[in-house]
Amino acid sequence: MPEINLREFRSCVEDTLRRYLFTLNFLPDSERELRDTFRSALRGRQVFSREPLLSVIPSYRPGATAADLMGRTEAPRLHSGIARLSNGGFDPGRALYDHQVRSLDLVQRRRNIVVATGTGSGKTECFLLPVLDDALRNPGPGVRAIVIYPLNALANDQLDRLRKLLRGLPEITFGRYTGDTKWNEEDAPEEQRRAALRPNERFSRNQIRSDPPHVLLTNFAMLECLLLRPQDSDIFRQQRLRYVILDEAHTYSGAQGIDVSLLMRRLREAFPGCELQFILTSATMGRDAGEIADFGRKLTGGTYSEQDVILGVPVTGFASDLRAPISLAEYAAVVPDEESLSRWLQALDDREAIGQLAGESSLSVPATAMRESSVGGFLSTWLRGNRELERIHGLASGRPVSLEEAASELWGTDNPDAVRVCEWLVALGARATVDPEASPPLLPARYQFFFRGLRGASVCLSRECPDRYSHPTTTWSSFILEDPPNCPTCGAALLPLLTCVHCGTPFLRVAEVDGKWQALEPGVSAPVHLLTWAGDTEEEDDESEGEETELSRPAELCLRCRTIVLGGQLTLPCCGRPDTITLRVALTKKPDGLLTRCPICAGRAQPFPTVLRDFVTGEDAATAVLGEATLRALPAESSGKPAGGRRLLCFSDSRQRAAYFAPYLVSVAKRVKM
Ligand SMILES: [Zn+2]
Ligand SMILES: [Zn+2]
Ligand SMILES: [Zn+2]
Repeated sequence: MPEINLREFRSCVEDTLRRYLFTLNFLPDSERELRDTFRSALRGRQVFSREPLLSVIPSYRPGATAADLMGRTEAPRLHSGIARLSNGGFDPGRALYDHQVRSLDLVQRRRNIVVATGTGSGKTECFLLPVLDDALRNPGPGVRAIVIYPLNALANDQLDRLRKLLRGLPEITFGRYTGDTKWNEEDAPEEQRRAALRPNERFSRNQIRSDPPHVLLTNFAMLECLLLRPQDSDIFRQQRLRYVILDEAHTYSGAQGIDVSLLMRRLREAFPGCELQFILTSATMGRDAGEIADFGRKLTGGTYSEQDVILGVPVTGFASDLRAPISLAEYAAVVPDEESLSRWLQALDDREAIGQLAGESSLSVPATAMRESSVGGFLSTWLRGNRELERIHGLASGRPVSLEEAASELWGTDNPDAVRVCEWLVALGARATVDPEASPPLLPARYQFFFRGLRGASVCLSRECPDRYSHPTTTWSSFILEDPPNCPTCGAALLPLLTCVHCGTPFLRVAEVDGKWQALEPGVSAPVHLLTWAGDTEEEDDESEGEETELSRPAELCLRCRTIVLGGQLTLPCCGRPDTITLRVALTKKPDGLLTRCPICAGRAQPFPTVLRDFVTGEDAATAVLGEATLRALPAESSGKPAGGRRLLCFSDSRQRAAYFAPYLVSVAKRVKM
């Protein structure tokens, strides 16, 4: 796949989103200056996006292979049956991570453990290997391990994994008992029944009860029920439980932590003859072994020493003896501008081209690198001693950093040259591996982008505002995306801005409380006034249906003390420094502030509640625009596949939104013909 040009990708997505946001609030020719100001405000820094952040996905120290452990008689050891996991995609000949071997060792030495390694560090194997090994050594009916997940979705993921993994081990049984589990197999849809792994899986509640599996996946609320309900506690009648696994254990804090620790105590009481062992996993517990052990003790009531806390040992592919620092000036000579950066990025698929660019540069390239036949081999041999790339690796491993931050750390400046050099180093480092299948690159990095919609807009109407000099004939002085209470330039109170969806006429929406105006806030019940500076009203016709459109009435407001007077004159001085403005009243004293008919163009709101639109972006549409723009900006992989083989994975914190988003995106994509 060709390398993504960070800047091109970002500006491509940003341009699409900017165009979309601009069309949401249409402004007519009579408001040309406001429209131009809106357009240029959308070009401001960090209005709807921020600098992308770079983060490194850590690699961990490798240990023995599963095959190595099969011949052993002492911990850490594995039953020879584990070799049959290869039918499910597990390679017994491949090195396990050192922390996976240590977990196996400690669990087999009868310790409670906390696995606190990072995301993507194979935490599941840390408990699955000892549990499966145990199930092979101790066949027979009865639940041996309960795996507790904070979310059903995680339990379902694990269920899918076991279905794949245990294909070659029919003697190990498992089942998932959550709210999603049906009483009888017949109650489940056909496709779900087909997905079950036979003969291992206990599919329904009744099957789990009558023939309890070795490994039971559940959540803590359901486990509570299973222990309390007499008909369910039957599941545990064999009294063979040994392992209690709490995945994502950090989620059990506060009140939920207390609930879970009580549940763990009840669990111990329910299995008086069993010596329970607890295995906790989490990716976000920090690296303080003492604190983590303490957390384990509190949550489960079991004993943990600091040695029972397993932290991964990160490793990198960098040489231990790094070469001398290279100055920013030297680097900047290699990538002096955007064009040269593009040339390098394009050469990342071409061994000859990249060798030529490196050879022409003033940087020293070892002869051993020149002999490498692949781009990745060339880059990794060339850069494994590069001090600056190693620094970037270190910086982005701790927390996500922007390229500007990385540049400042390296050279004390975030000028365009320094940022470009960082981007160049990252692109090269991300490709630097002899064998992409077998080992991660020198810099296993990813970028995170951040976008959001608009959250409103407002105008300053003060005649004293210095912003008005650039457009002296307009009623408004300053236009501000966002709705802070006061003008950043002159300090006058700002008025929230809306526009008519039909004619684009600007309206201002204020609530009146005790003779003062303020922005409309949810939950505040006060008379709402819709005001406008626009003048030309259409002829009043009979269709007005008694709606309160009284554009002829003036409204006088003070932009300092927020006094408001409708249909009359403000008594001056209202405050120490009056700054008054007269507007027209479009609608008054309607508590919801909804305008069903525009007094300027007579456009109707139906089927919507109001003809006015604030400068606030709805979520689904903006996300769809973003998703589509992202797909479009990605390089195509193959022309024969839909969308050129580009793939997009979307997450949502709302299940409902997630369910609706995919079909929404599909229908949008069909319309725009991707
Ligand atoms: Zn102002
Ligand atoms: Zn209108
Ligand atoms: Zn005043």
